[in-house]
Amino acid sequence: MAAKTMEELVALCKRRGFIYQSNEIYGGLQGLFDYGPLGVELKNNLKQSWWRSMVYERDDVEGLDASILTAPSVLKHSGHEDTFSDPLVDCRSCNSRWRADHLKELICPSCGSSDLTDPRPFNLMLKTNFGPIDDGSSFAYLRPETAQQTFINFKNVLDSTSRNLPFGIAQIGKAFRNEVTPRNFLFRVREFEIMELEFFVEPGTADHWHNFWVQNRIKWWSEQGIEKNKLDVYKVPDKDLAHYSESTIDLMYKFPHAVEELEGIANRTDFDLGSHTKNQSDLNIKAKVISNTNSNAKLAVQDKQTKEWKVPYVIEPAAGVERGVLAILNEAFKIEKLEGGKERTVLAFKPHLAPIKAAVIPLKRNNEELVQAATSLKRKLQSLSLGRVLLENSGNIGKSYRRHDEVGTPLCLTVDFQTLEDQTVTVRDRDTMGQERIHVEEAPAYVKEHIN
Ligand code: ATP
Repeated sequence: MAAKTMEELVALCKRRGFIYQSNEIYGGLQGLFDYGPLGVELKNNLKQSWWRSMVYERDDVEGLDASILTAPSVLKHSGHEDTFSDPLVDCRSCNSRWRADHLKELICPSCGSSDLTDPRPFNLMLKTNFGPIDDGSSFAYLRPETAQQTFINFKNVLDSTSRNLPFGIAQIGKAFRNEVTPRNFLFRVREFEIMELEFFVEPGTADHWHNFWVQNRIKWWSEQGIEKNKLDVYKVPDKDLAHYSESTIDLMYKFPHAVEELEGIANRTDFDLGSHTKNQSDLNIKAKVISNTNSNAKLAVQDKQTKEWKVPYVIEPAAGVERGVLAILNEAFKIEKLEGGKERTVLAFKPHLAPIKAAVIPLKRNNEELVQAATSLKRKLQSLSLGRVLLENSGNIGKSYRRHDEVGTPLCLTVDFQTLEDQTVTVRDRDTMGQERIHVEEAPAYVKEHIN
C-alpha cells in the first residue's frame, strides 16, 4: 500500500472531492487547502477518533475549546515572540526565500545561485488588527498552537472540575504559522488544525508519563491504519529542542515526499505554567522562565496534606490533523491488479474513518419502486448515526462500485428487482469485492457490525 508519488494522491483528492487548493479561482493562496465533501468527513472522523480516545475513553482528561485570537502577552511570556522563528535566507539573484535549515547546500534551490544572505530569524506568528482602531498597536496573534490557551485556562478547568494530578486537558483547533516555504501538499501549510493534549503530572513522574504517551500514541496511530512498523521513534537532539522542551520524541512517518514528523511528544516541564504564573519566585519553578509575567494567576496545585504549592510538569502529545489526514490517505491508497489485466484504485480506510460508511444503490435510477426502496433503506441506515450513508442514484452499478472503492466506502448495498419481491439486497465488500444477499431487516445490524 501507499501512493507512489504525492501527485497521485493530490490528483485523487481533487478528482473525488477530498481536498482542493484554497482560493483557487483567484490564483490560490499558498499553503492553504480546503476540504471538499469527502475531505471534511475524513477529517472530522479523525478528530472524533482522537477525541474519543483522549477524552471519552479516559477518566483523567477534560476537553477545552478556546479562542484562536490570542493576547500578545500570552505569546510574549510563552517565549513565542522571541523564539518561535525559523532561519530565513534570501537569494540575491532571484529574490526567492528559503529556510536555511532545509537547504542541503548553501545554494538557491530555485536558480542555483550561491549568492544567499546570512540566515536571520523570521517569526512565524501571524497577527491581525484587533478592535476598531487600526494604528498597529492594537493587535492579536492567531495562535501558533492550542497549547498556550490550554495553559492559561489551567486554573479555570482545575477549579471547575476539582481534578488532582495527574490529569489532562485536550483541545483540537486551528493553528496558524507563516511558514517560509509551505509545500508538500498538506504536510506544511500555513493554516492547520492541531490535536493537543496537555497532561499535567507530579514533577518527579514526567519521564514515566512521557514514555507512557509515546507508547499510547503509537498504538492510536495503528488503530487509524498506520501500523507500528511504519513509525520511527526519533529522539530530538538537545540542540534542536524547542525552547520549552526538556525532551521530545517525534513520531516519524514515510510521507510520499520524505520521512518526516507526524506527531511530537514533548516534556514541557513546568515552563509554561511557570511562565504564566505571578510571584514565580515563591513557587520553586525548575524551568528557566522568560520574564516576570504580569498575569494575575497562580497556575499551580496545592498538596492536600502538606499544603505546599507546586507547578505541575506537562507532557504534550501534539499531532497535526493535516499530516494525519495525509498519512492516512497515503496508507489507505492502493492500486490492485484484477483478473483480465484491469486495475482498481482503492482507499482501504479503517471503517471508522471512511467518509461514506455505506452507499445504497438502486439498480435503475428512474425506477420509482427501486428508488423508493433504496431511499427507505438509506434512511434506516442513516439513523444508526454511524456517519454518512449515501443514496447513490447513478443507475450504473459497476461505475458506482469503482467510485466507492476509490473513495473508500466499506459497503455498497444494491437494491434490485428481487428486492421488491423478497426484501433482500446485495451487499458488496470494498476489500474483498465479495457479495452476499441479506434481508433488508438484517441490514442495519450488518452495517453496524462492519463499521464498528
Ligand atoms: P516541523 O519541524 O515539521 O516544522 P514542528 O516541530 O514545528 O514541525 P510542532 O510545533 O511540534 O511542529 O507541532 C506539532 C504538530 O503540528 C506537528 O507534529 C505537525 O503534525 C503539526 N504541524 C506543525 N506545523 C505544521 C504545518 N506548518 N503544517 C501542517 N502541520 C503542522
